[in-house]
Amino acid sequence: MQIVVKKFGGTSLANVDSIHHVANVIQQSQQKHPACVVVVSAMAGTTNNLQYWCDELSGSLGPNPDRDMVLSSGEMVTAGLLSIALQARGVPARAWTGWQVPIVTNEDWGRCDGVFTGSSALVSDLSSGVVPVVCGFQGVTPGGRITTLGRGGSDTTAVILAAALKAEVCEIFTDVQGVYTADPAYVPAARSYGDVSYEAMLTLSQFGAKVLHANAIIWAKNHGIPLHVLSTAKPDQSGTWIRENAQQVCGVVYKPVLSWRMSSLPDQEQEMMGVSIIDRSVSAKGLHFLTWVDDYHQVKSQWPDAACSDPKMLVSLIGNSSSSAQYALRNPPKIPIEHCVQQPGVLGVMVEQKHVYDMIQHVHTHLV
Ligand code: ADP
Ligand code: ASP
Ligand code: MG
Repeated sequence: MQIVVKKFGGTSLANVDSIHHVANVIQQSQQKHPACVVVVSAMAGTTNNLQYWCDELSGSLGPNPDRDMVLSSGEMVTAGLLSIALQARGVPARAWTGWQVPIVTNEDWGRCDGVFTGSSALVSDLSSGVVPVVCGFQGVTPGGRITTLGRGGSDTTAVILAAALKAEVCEIFTDVQGVYTADPAYVPAARSYGDVSYEAMLTLSQFGAKVLHANAIIWAKNHGIPLHVLSTAKPDQSGTWIRENAQQVCGVVYKPVLSWRMSSLPDQEQEMMGVSIIDRSVSAKGLHFLTWVDDYHQVKSQWPDAACSDPKMLVSLIGNSSSSAQYALRNPPKIPIEHCVQQPGVLGVMVEQKHVYDMIQHVHTHLV
C-alpha cells in the first residue's frame, strides 16, 4: 500500500468554508492517493487564544502539563469537523487524537518530541478504505499525560506518522505556494524554491522560516521521508520539495532572540539542557550568550540569576550568500546593528524588532 500523509495548517482550516475546501481537496486526490492519512492543525488563531488564557492565569509558572492539555484542545475541533465534512461527501473518514494513535513523547512540556508511534489503528483504517484524520501537535507521555510538540508542531506529527507508516511522501499544505527566499508575507519579491535539501531547510527553519517546524525536518531526514510543501488554495501548483541531494539555497530569515548575562561564570563545559545557544562570549562582566526567545523558561529554570535583555530580532542570511548580500546585512542604511553571529552557513545580525521588515527587504534585494 503506497501511503501519503497530508497535513493541513491552521490558516487552511480557519472556518467552515475553508474546511469544505480542504475536504474537496482530499476527495479530489482520492483517485491518485487512495491510502491517505490526514493531519490537521487547530483553526488559525485558536492556539494563540488558548496560550493567552494560560499566560493570563499562570503568572510566572513555566512549562506545565496542564498547559499542554489546554493548548492541545484546538486540534480536536478541526479533526472532528474535517472528518464529518469528508463523511458528508461520501468519503469514509474517522478522527483520531494524538494520544489515541498513540504518539508517545518525552515530558519536555510545551515542546515535546516523539519517542514512539503506534500505527496499527491507522493501518487498519486504511485497509478498510477509511481516511484517518489525526489531530496534529498532540502526544501523550508513557504515564498517560497529554503533551504538545511545540508551536507549529503539527508538521512534526505528520512526519512522525509518515515515518511510522513508511509513507512515500508527506505533503504539507499551507497558505503559501512553497518555501521562499524570504517570508512572502513581508517580501513580495521573494521567490519560491523548486527543491531544498534537508540540511538547508533545517537551518532556514531553525533561524526563523516558520513554514516548516524544525523537528519535522529532522524526522524527515532521519527516516528518508520526502516533504512536499504545497498551497491549499492552489494544490495543483508545483510547490517545494525537501529531500536528499536537492539544491543548496540561499535565503533571509528572522527570529526573536534574548541576550543573557551571568555575572558569576559557570563551568564553560556545562551545557544548558534543551537550550540552543546561538552565540556566546566572555567579558569582564561575565558570560554573555544569545538564545531564542522560546528558550526563556529553560534558561531561567536552570540559571535563575541570569539577566536578559528585551527581545531583539536576529536577521540571518542562510546558505552560500553572495558578498554583496553579506555586506547589505552588515551595513543596513540607518539601522543600528547590535551584534553579529557567524556559524557555518549562517550570518546573522541582531537589530531592534521595529527594524526587521526594512532589514529583510533591504537584504533580499541583494540576494542573487
Ligand atoms: P500553517 O498554518 O499552514 O502551519 P504557518 O503559519 O505555520 O502555516 O507557516 C506558513 C507561513 O510561514 C506563511 O504564511 C509565511 O508567512 C511564513 N513564512 C516565513 N518564512 C517563510 C519562507 N521562507 N517561505 C515560506 N513561508 C514562510
Ligand atoms: N496549533 C498549533 C500551533 O498553532 C500547532 C500547529 O499549528 O502546527 O502552534
Ligand atoms: Mg505551521
